[in-house]
Amino acid sequence: MNNLDLIVVGGGITGAGILREAVRNGFRTLLIEQKDFAWGTSSRSSKLVHGGLRYLKEGHFGLTRESVKERERLIREAPGLVEPLEFRLPVYERRKPGRWTMGLGLALYDLISWKWNHRYMPRNEFLQNVPQVDPRGLVGGFSFSDAQVDDARLVMRLIKDAEMNGGKALNYTRVNKLLRNSSGKIEGVVTEDVETGEIKPFHAPCVINATGVWAENLHPSPEKNKHIRPLRGSHLIFPWELIPITTTVSFFNAQDGRALFAIPWEGSVLVGTTDIDHGNSLTDEPRITQGEAEYLINSLNHTFPGLKLSLNQAVSSFAGVRPVVSEGNVSADKESRDHVIWKDKGLVTVTGGKLTTFRVLAYDTLKACLDMLPHCNLDAISEPVFESRRSITLSHTVSETVLRSLWGRYGKETLTLLNESDEQDLETIPGTRTLWAEIKYAAKYEKIRHLDDLLLRRVRIGLLLSKGGKDYVGRIRSLCENVLPWDNERWELELKTYFMLWDSCYSPDAFQNFSR
Ligand SMILES: Cc1cc2nc3c(=O)[nH]c(=O)nc-3n(C[C@H](O)[C@H](O)[C@H](O)COP(=O)(O)OP(=O)(O)OC[C@H]3O[C@@H](n4cnc5c(N)ncnc54)[C@H](O)[C@@H]3O)c2cc1C
Repeated sequence: MNNLDLIVVGGGITGAGILREAVRNGFRTLLIEQKDFAWGTSSRSSKLVHGGLRYLKEGHFGLTRESVKERERLIREAPGLVEPLEFRLPVYERRKPGRWTMGLGLALYDLISWKWNHRYMPRNEFLQNVPQVDPRGLVGGFSFSDAQVDDARLVMRLIKDAEMNGGKALNYTRVNKLLRNSSGKIEGVVTEDVETGEIKPFHAPCVINATGVWAENLHPSPEKNKHIRPLRGSHLIFPWELIPITTTVSFFNAQDGRALFAIPWEGSVLVGTTDIDHGNSLTDEPRITQGEAEYLINSLNHTFPGLKLSLNQAVSSFAGVRPVVSEGNVSADKESRDHVIWKDKGLVTVTGGKLTTFRVLAYDTLKACLDMLPHCNLDAISEPVFESRRSITLSHTVSETVLRSLWGRYGKETLTLLNESDEQDLETIPGTRTLWAEIKYAAKYEKIRHLDDLLLRRVRIGLLLSKGGKDYVGRIRSLCENVLPWDNERWELELKTYFMLWDSCYSPDAFQNFSR
């Protein structure tokens, strides 16, 4: 990998978006990720592609406008991966925010999006839509829409698109040091393969630090009063049968008034999120705390009292840490979700922001690099986010719904995925929307180093199935045996490590398993 124009450090959505846009604009680019692609915050979001209705309350109109523009574009240009999502928002008498405040907020949201899509529903109609909500004091509710994405798959799709067009991406490779010449100008990075320990330098005139919440480890903030404030958000996942909602339900916590969501996702229901100072070391994988789990359960039972939900009915949990750039002195949920760019002699740091606005972050960052790059045109800015679906000849028949979602996740690689699959592997894994065939494809073609890469990020069955998918280990192993170079001993080790990780970071009561 010689003659690089650009090195991107960090394989989350920010780094992946930059890699893909840099390659499209003709720059020779290498991305370096210390763990697995999307291992950081970008596999742990609420999976919404949204304007952020609540940001309006804080007066962040610019961010909302930018986000809804991106939402509309992604819905149009990434079908099957980014899909519209319907929301319902109940209104209760003598509870804040009331009908008029909510109506005003939603009208503003629609005006900013240039898309009138909210509507007030009287009580009976609302209850027909969401019969699970508490009917006591309910006066009606609103419907509106945003969109949903599989966050880790979006990262992979961007990385693979970039690689197909000449970009390069390494996982499990950490940047340990920046290389600078005698006048401090960036010349490259020194990396370490975190498993073999191999040390290797890579040279380029420009390095982008897209390491999210870790950004200040590589380059401290140049602004005395502006620093990264790591804010943790946790989610619980429930089987859909226990919360049988057909649209997302937004509701408010009775004590602090924060907005929460119960979101149908991949055949389950995702409930979140919290927003609190992380406090723990950023080296450890984050996990839900007992306080957060109780907060989510109590909020759910307040909204859906008839369901009588308890933590032991949840399938899994996960936690992520937001890279929020803070000037201090405000509560967590009032912090701006905008991104910042810091430039220092060939090193460009980008952090903050949202998954939704990854393209905006990518272009703002590349613009900041132009004086160090071989040409200054960013021509591809108006190109569609992803190539649209072509008609393909398949050796198996699959439904339009399956084909749409496969194309969204894998693009033109869908052809390889389907043509290399046995007929029986085109069934979905019970309780999910994932095909067995996706496991084999990901294991063969998507740079899997460990079992958690496969089950938690390439496919999401580690989050969607009870006990992290323990009941299906036999079939998973037989699908992968001919495509992963693991002997019996390695399989035993991978399984043991994966289930230990799952117990301590992804089980619904991960906090208990950690403290034992
Ligand atoms: C609970 C929660 C819910 C959210 N929900 C939404 C949502 O619904 N919609 C939305 O738009 N946004 C959402 N967000 C925000 C969004 O997830 C983040 O803004 C985004 O994922 C940040 O991406 P990133 O690439 O900057 O960081 P990350 O995804 O964390 O990527 C940074 C990467 O850098 C790597 N790295 C660090 N140091 C090094 C090094 N020295 N060498 C090599 N690699 C390194 C890390 O391993 C990591 O993978 C949410 C965030 C949280 C926490």
